[in-house]
Amino acid sequence: MQSRWNDDEAARWAARVAAAPELGLRVYTSRLLGAEKTLVLHGGGNTSVKLRLADIFGAAQEALCVKGSGSDLAQVTPEDFSTVRLAAVRRLIELDDLDNEALMREVAVTIARAPSPRPSIETLLHAVLPFQFVEHTHADAILAVTNTAGGERIARTLFGDIAPLVPFRESGFALAKACDAVYREQATADTIGLVLLHHGAVAFGNSARASYENMLRLVTRAEGYLQAHGARVLPRDPAPFPPPDPLRIARMRRELSHTCGFPLLLRLQQGAEWQAYARRADLAALGAEGPATPQHAVFIKREPLLGSDVAGYARRYARYVAEAYPGTSPADLGLDPAPRVIVDAQIGVWVAAIDAHHLQVTGEILQQDREIKTRAAAHDRYAGLPSRAILEAEIHYGGFERRLRAGGDTAALLGEAALIVGPGEPAKTLAAALERRGAAAMTAPSVDHEGLQGLIGRYGGLDMLLLIDADEDAIDACAALLRLAPRGGRILAVELARSGCIARAAQAAKRQQLPLAGARLAAGAAITPMHADLIGRLCDPALAGTCPRVALEAGIA
Ligand SMILES: [Zn+2]
Repeated sequence: MQSRWNDDEAARWAARVAAAPELGLRVYTSRLLGAEKTLVLHGGGNTSVKLRLADIFGAAQEALCVKGSGSDLAQVTPEDFSTVRLAAVRRLIELDDLDNEALMREVAVTIARAPSPRPSIETLLHAVLPFQFVEHTHADAILAVTNTAGGERIARTLFGDIAPLVPFRESGFALAKACDAVYREQATADTIGLVLLHHGAVAFGNSARASYENMLRLVTRAEGYLQAHGARVLPRDPAPFPPPDPLRIARMRRELSHTCGFPLLLRLQQGAEWQAYARRADLAALGAEGPATPQHAVFIKREPLLGSDVAGYARRYARYVAEAYPGTSPADLGLDPAPRVIVDAQIGVWVAAIDAHHLQVTGEILQQDREIKTRAAAHDRYAGLPSRAILEAEIHYGGFERRLRAGGDTAALLGEAALIVGPGEPAKTLAAALERRGAAAMTAPSVDHEGLQGLIGRYGGLDMLLLIDADEDAIDACAALLRLAPRGGRILAVELARSGCIARAAQAAKRQQLPLAGARLAAGAAITPMHADLIGRLCDPALAGTCPRVALEAGIA
């Protein structure tokens, strides 16, 4: 892996934080790490720098600036770092045991600068390592070497003194304690980092550049091993999957959503690598081993669904929970039994998520997982963690869907897909209004077969059809898909130009037995974002089919 260090850029970042140039450099190299998707994804990884700062009386203080939890390394700023009192945090390692909630409370009382983001869960790990700069990533190449039956032995030989191995421990106090012990017992003058089994790597150094490039040295070593064992190049299969059958996919989406308890969107993963993956003979064995790191399960669950038996998957998932916690159901733990990944040699690889953003995130996590597993299986047998450790991660790091769904107005249309048919500008304004309420929206000047296939590949179904002065034929084209919407499909006709579109759409909707609402704007009026928000409310399932009275009451006509 090539270093992206640039002296001029580094000097600019150092100058940007004049009071603490090392923090500027810390921000700079954090961004360099974040620029590598094979090192960290979506808020993963964390970095720190130790500094001497003056307090308000001018007395020098040893401080640790550590990335706050949740911020993305690729776009991190100095304000995303929390400053804590180093000695006070470091002392916590003397305790024999501490649960993570208590750890975070103790770390919070050492915060030396306000306002401060919530310090990373790995703050203690950063504090105990005796180097000015420390970085932690989830490097794919290292996981592909270590997540195998012989991984521990291979990694011991490959990294030696350079980076001693740390057994898998839950993030927080347990991991800090393990890293501290391994460092104290095994580090030599050659040590530049630690390899964390089933998790990633830590690197350190006494300058920003040395520490960053030490991480790259560890990754490069793992990449070299994979290369030498024919495991670096990913298999490709040029034969595409047949185009998705829209009704089959929409039916699968409805079943998935009902199993889950709320609507989910589906997205097809496309390309030669995905085609090769879906046709692997050892897919069941790879799936049964679980994801490359426990946190991946928050987005992709422990196993994919192979084939189409959603009910069977849900039963197995309930069993997996009950084996770890007898007498407990997934719902008791805030979980649901629906898969988030479906792999089928016929229909391809699909991910499920609650909104368009998380479809993207889930797709990227699955891609990382696929690459790690594929490479691991190319040089040895892929091996994951015991299922109990995966379930713990699902429980502790999960819950983002619940938090999103509690968002009130911004969550009203979560997990649902809208197709807006009509002229460009008004369609875009309406799409933005629906997206503000959680929906995934697509716009098109008209509906045709290709367009619907594109919609299915992107969202897996259709919940709302919006026509802006558009041809009512679109209703007939979309009716079968709308009938498979998890919360019931609905149609909204918007009339801007006295086109008579509402009346004609009402006829077509009646024929197709689908609910329709209508909104009529004064002739020649443009749809403003405020109009669009009012019109968007007519898409709520509770208001479906109230044409056109509600629109009039909403004051639009
Ligand atoms: Zn981590």
